Amino acid sequence: MSPLRHKGLALLALLIGYLIVEWVEYGRGQVLIGVEPLDPSVGLAFAALLLGGPTFLPVVVAGEIGSALFRSGGQLPALVALLPAATVGISWGLAALVLRRFANLRLAGQRDLVLLIVTAAMAALGTATGDAASLWLTATLPEGEFAQVLTRAWIGDMIGAMVVTPLVLVLRPPLPLPSRAVTIEATVQGAVAIAMLWALFRLPAAAEWQLYDLLVLPSIWAAARFGIRGAVVINIVLQIGMVAAFVMVVKDADAVTAYQFRMLVLTLSTLFLGVAVTERRSVEDTLRRRQDQLDRFARLSLAGEMAAALAHELNQPLSAALTYSRAALRLLDSPGNDQTKLRAAMNGAATQAERAGMIIRTLREFIGRGELNRQPHVLPTLVRDSLALLEPECQRAGIRFEAVLDRTLPPVLVDAVQVQQVLLNLLRNAIEAIEQTPGPRRLVTVVTHPTEPGTVTVEVADSGPGLDQDLVARLFQPFSTTKAAGMGLGLAICRTIIEAHGGRLWLAGNGPGGCAFRFTLPLASGTKTGGQA
Ligand code: ADP
Repeated sequence: MSPLRHKGLALLALLIGYLIVEWVEYGRGQVLIGVEPLDPSVGLAFAALLLGGPTFLPVVVAGEIGSALFRSGGQLPALVALLPAATVGISWGLAALVLRRFANLRLAGQRDLVLLIVTAAMAALGTATGDAASLWLTATLPEGEFAQVLTRAWIGDMIGAMVVTPLVLVLRPPLPLPSRAVTIEATVQGAVAIAMLWALFRLPAAAEWQLYDLLVLPSIWAAARFGIRGAVVINIVLQIGMVAAFVMVVKDADAVTAYQFRMLVLTLSTLFLGVAVTERRSVEDTLRRRQDQLDRFARLSLAGEMAAALAHELNQPLSAALTYSRAALRLLDSPGNDQTKLRAAMNGAATQAERAGMIIRTLREFIGRGELNRQPHVLPTLVRDSLALLEPECQRAGIRFEAVLDRTLPPVLVDAVQVQQVLLNLLRNAIEAIEQTPGPRRLVTVVTHPTEPGTVTVEVADSGPGLDQDLVARLFQPFSTTKAAGMGLGLAICRTIIEAHGGRLWLAGNGPGGCAFRFTLPLASGTKTGGQA
């Protein structure tokens, strides 16, 4: 359907709906109790002007004129039929103009609701004045009753606008279909509302309206559970129930006005609660969506870091295996090939390949379960194994290793492969730093230090050039590197591993004479006893 036809049909539907509502309002309500208890047509007109804009204004005015003529049986002078219609058009048209500009028409926040209430109150005052003035012009206004007529007209318009307009604004499509549970609960709420209305009008105490507060229960229930949607529905249910009760049971015009003021307070309170609940839910939804997004990013970047880490950690054993294999090939080609050396080279290659496999396994387990395989291990053995792996590189660069380790320590409770990764990374960084310095002092030391009970501190120090001050601040951040082929992940990964063991890793010393890194590890049992070996 074209948008134009769509709008045309909407206009026609509005006109028909408007006239039907007016007929019910005046034909049934006012005739029986001598006052207009509620003006839903105003609410409908306001909603139409809000959603459709100024195009709907002629229809609203035509509807008003038609209903005025219909009410008077075609007897009213033209001016009296036109005046209320004109005030309706001007007042509600202006209110709609302001709201369309400044408010969210789904009533998303308290501000939107306040704007709706204030503009509707002003517009209702405009139409009420028009109504009272038209009575005065036809000399049908009883002496001294201007204020009373004005008040009655205002409350009728205002409550009509506050019940019907939010209903149309909030429940217009697109709307998600309610679930079965919501439908059941809403039906129960409706039933409770009707029971309360019955009690209010039928129980003996009701004569003095003492049970009025009963209506608060279904109102709060609906608004608290279903937000603004619950609020608009319960408001119309209670309002229709009230009007029906007045028309059928009370039939007292003064009581209606007093009651409508109370109803207005209840209606507005319910709307405020509904908006607050919806607002909070939408904030929670936004937060949850952001958190999901963050989690997704975190997982993506963790996967990226893991992949980079894997590449980084595998590089070393694979290149060592390559070196060993090439040496083996050279030995095979050499005359009288030395079986012992060949065996040692092949052994070396096999050990490095095994190590690469172990790294992959450990990382996979680490990612899969997010935990470490912690066992008691002898720290000096872990250090010695790591040093042994780096021996070929050290020999080539003319670097000496020194290990000063406390042999009285109880075993450490660690994932051996992961801690060896840390040691290897720190030692390799130290070797690479010394390789850049031509000086004669080429030394790497690994020392254990006394520390708080239950843990041990390990220090890896070198005689390299030390770190640049500007690098120190971001040393442990991923991708901080000064090396052409470096990834800047080593220290970041080391810190993650040590922290996963409940320890700390930090830069303990830095200067032109080299730098020192320290980390702590948990002991399997007992406390540290001291004494260096
Ligand atoms: P990568 O080795 O891949 O560069 P790291 O996280 O291991 O990543 O180290 C980051 C940077 O810290 C290195 O590029 C290097 O500049 C510096 N660095 C680390 N250890 C030392 C050290 N012992 N001496 C001097 N600089 C070091």
